[in-house]
Amino acid sequence: MENCIFCRIIAGEIPSTKIYEDDLVLAFMDISPINFGHILVIPKEHHNSSASIPENIAGRMFYVASRIGVACKRSLDYDGFNLHLADGTCAGQVVMHAHLHVVPRGLDDGFHWNWRQLKYESDAVRQETADKIVEKLKI
Ligand code: 5GP
Ligand code: ZN
Repeated sequence: MENCIFCRIIAGEIPSTKIYEDDLVLAFMDISPINFGHILVIPKEHHNSSASIPENIAGRMFYVASRIGVACKRSLDYDGFNLHLADGTCAGQVVMHAHLHVVPRGLDDGFHWNWRQLKYESDAVRQETADKIVEKLKI
């Protein structure tokens, strides 16, 4: 994908601060971090969506991201980390090469997810919603 900024980073055409690389994934520093040490883990194959990433590559992304989260805790004195993936523009995806964010977190880092908590109208409505999802679920 010649116009994809992350494919160009993989190809070495755009510089990046690399953290880890293997045959399947690349991890590098996010240029505009939520907290210092914020890292992106990307598949070397171009996929717009996480949903088209093969299981072995997706698994490697998650494994590497978790190890990097632990390394951030140990090296930069963080308390924990978030793994975040935005799939689709409505979900906040800006770069259309699927990527997993590793956001190191401190207890008092001042960053808050705007996480609302809706309530289902009834147990039946929650079950109906679940049934619709299960009907379309393809693993
Ligand atoms: P998204 O909003 O798509 O989930 O996240 C895209 C991320 O890519 C953002 O956090 C942004 O800072 C990062 N980013 C965008 N362009 C570049 C770049 O050229 N280099 C690096 N290292 N990160 C980038
Ligand atoms: Zn790409």
